[in-house]
Parts: sequence; C-alpha cells; structure tokens
Amino acid sequence: MIHYQLRCGQDHGFDGWFNDSASFEKQAKRGLIECPECGATNVERALMAPALAKRDASPMPVAEPSSTVQAPATPEKTTSVRLPAQMVAALQRMRAEVEKSCDYVGPDFADQARAMHRGEVEPKGIYGETTDEQAESLAEEGIAVAKIPWVPRADG
Ligand SMILES: [Zn+2]
Repeated sequence: MIHYQLRCGQDHGFDGWFNDSASFEKQAKRGLIECPECGATNVERALMAPALAKRDASPMPVAEPSSTVQAPATPEKTTSVRLPAQMVAALQRMRAEVEKSCDYVGPDFADQARAMHRGEVEPKGIYGETTDEQAESLAEEGIAVAKIPWVPRADG
C-alpha cells in the first residue's frame, strides 16, 4: 500500500491509499477517485510538503537482530491522515510483536544499534527512539533500521 496526498481541481487536499502507483493512475484516469469535499474526479497527486505537517503516530525505529541491511522506510512526513482501521489493526499487531520480542532501549537506540553492528554487544531485537538524522546516519553505516508508525495499543 502506498499513501498519496491528493488534490482536486478546486484545490481540496485529501489522502488516498493505493496498492501501487499504477493502480492510482488507473483509478484516476477512470474518474474513480472523488474529492470527498466537492466530488470532483479531476484528481492529481499533491506535492509532498515535508516536515510541515505534525505527525500523530511517530515512527519508532526497530533494529533487526540479523545483520541484514535494509533500506529504512521512507519517513512518513505527512501523517495528518487518519489511517484506515485495517491498517491501524495491523500496526497494533506489529507493535505488540515488537514489544514482545524486542527490548526497549529508548533514546539509546542509535548507540545500541551501532554497538550491535560493531559486534560490541550481543545482537538482539531492540526498539526505541531516534531522530531522523540518527536514523539516516545509521542507514548510511549500513545498519538495518526499520521505522514503523507507532499506533496506540489496541488495549489502550
Ligand atoms: Zn474538491
């Protein structure tokens, strides 16, 4: 699933979720995407405005215990969007799984991930907080970090 910020001919902004960019193109061409405000179907992708929107689900980086190098997920800069219930449920399951199988290291995440990467400590699954800058420099060092949107727990 990919998330697009969309804009209609009247300049109303809204959000859409699509399987891939091709399915967005197809639906847009067929006029299947309607502006929720005015019903217009001349819809196009809006330009992303990074770092302006406030996030309501902050991404939580997770280090894989293996040394597999993964590209970090593109940070979601514009989460003024309400996630579909299905997706929230999936993210809640992911969160529960991470909390069960990984150790919380809080703001030490970047240091811990680096120490594991260098073999200074036993590799294990950890999760915690980093800044975007820290996550980027970890990725540059080839350290596997995944960001997942941290949704409120299912049990509150
Ligand atoms: Zn509109």
